[in-house]
Amino acid sequence: MFDVIVVGARCAGAPAAMQFARSGHRVLMVDQSAFPADKLSTLYIQQTGVLQLQRWGLLDAVKASGCPPLDHVVYQLGDDIRVEGCADPVDGVTAAYAPRRSILDRILVEAAVDAGVEFRDGCAVTGLVEEDGRVCGVRLVAGEVQSVERARLVVGADGMRSTVAELTGAPKTVEHPKLTCAYYTFWKGPKTHFELYEGPTGWVSAVPTNDAVLISAYYPQQRFTEVRTRAQEAYLENIRDNAPGLYAKLENAEQVDRLYGTGDQQNFFRQAHGPGWALIGDAGHHKDSLTARGIGDAFAQAQMLVDRVGDSLGSDEALDVALKDFAEERDLTFMENYRATLLVAEASARDKRRMLLKAVSSSPDHVRRYFNTVAGLRPVSELYTPELLALLKP
Ligand SMILES: Cc1cc2nc3c(=O)[nH]c(=O)nc-3n(C[C@H](O)[C@H](O)[C@H](O)COP(=O)(O)OP(=O)(O)OC[C@H]3O[C@@H](n4cnc5c(N)ncnc54)[C@H](O)[C@@H]3O)c2cc1C
Repeated sequence: MFDVIVVGARCAGAPAAMQFARSGHRVLMVDQSAFPADKLSTLYIQQTGVLQLQRWGLLDAVKASGCPPLDHVVYQLGDDIRVEGCADPVDGVTAAYAPRRSILDRILVEAAVDAGVEFRDGCAVTGLVEEDGRVCGVRLVAGEVQSVERARLVVGADGMRSTVAELTGAPKTVEHPKLTCAYYTFWKGPKTHFELYEGPTGWVSAVPTNDAVLISAYYPQQRFTEVRTRAQEAYLENIRDNAPGLYAKLENAEQVDRLYGTGDQQNFFRQAHGPGWALIGDAGHHKDSLTARGIGDAFAQAQMLVDRVGDSLGSDEALDVALKDFAEERDLTFMENYRATLLVAEASARDKRRMLLKAVSSSPDHVRRYFNTVAGLRPVSELYTPELLALLKP
């Protein structure tokens, strides 16, 4: 009998398992992938996520991997609007980082195991054990071997297509249509900051990681069917048309990996809990990856769940109250940024973004507030000062 079983061992699952174990609980963490396994991601961890890594004592390991600090952001919209800067330091954290997922996910899993978590990779959850209307365990398959493990709490940290969500029947409580599709690969040679470009036909970003620069191209979702048939050609066209300065740098650079892509950029919140179970990370709440929030939000949800559960695992009633509180806090915390992400990823809202960025670029104070908001350090409401609102009046 475990106190907690965590399904999924990445940005949501591994820190949740680690923190439950650090609080003295007996924890089993399983993942169907054989680790180390790579993961689709443009890698960027906003400062809020970096802060969380620091609080858990894991930031030094990320830095030691040779991952460069990203403390200067460039956001260019069209030919004429450009903001540059960075968010304010918090608790000594001055930069974002974009470690390779093979590095980040290894650091997270090792920290969980060091905290006392029992980890089984190559081990998939295929069913739940239920008694008296409560989830009290999981059915596992590892190769040919089937087993059952029991726990007071089962945490689904198993991603956007969550098995735990499917098995519990957790409905989507908020849902919006897909807005973008994304392609990216890695380049050796170009010197860049963390850079974002928005042009007439899409978005482009450059993200320096451990050993290369990841360059991504995002398109409106309506183009996915066409783009996927000629992905490499469309990728280069997107960079040429929307980030011509960056495109010029690629002439003397080398593409060192294949192209990765997805059109499955879902936007939703799912019911986050029920008797004996909870969902965290992408399993419970997913949004377009354009604003690079998924990793930091998964970290935050992991900590939020552990904090709310506290020492309530000894009583079903206390645990149910704690899980309800977690679910309410999750919705309150992430709804504003979810809506902001929809606005950034909505191609037809480009004129609104132009107006905003133009107004922001007019003063260093607006720029500072803007980057604090983008990094998730301050609420969106703090960006819209009376001075900025005056500039936005038609
Ligand atoms: C193209 C793209 C680019 C992105 N770029 C960024 C970015 O730059 N910055 C950012 O912050 N976020 C980004 N994201 C989002 C970010 O990657 C996710 O939000 C984050 O990885 C979610 O972590 P998670 O632990 O919730 O889920 P996941 O990373 O999906 O992990 C879930 C784990 O559960 C396991 N699992 C699934 N089912 C089972 C089962 N039945 N049994 C056992 N194990 C199971 C899986 O094997 C997997 O390892 C991007 C996403 C995409 C698609």
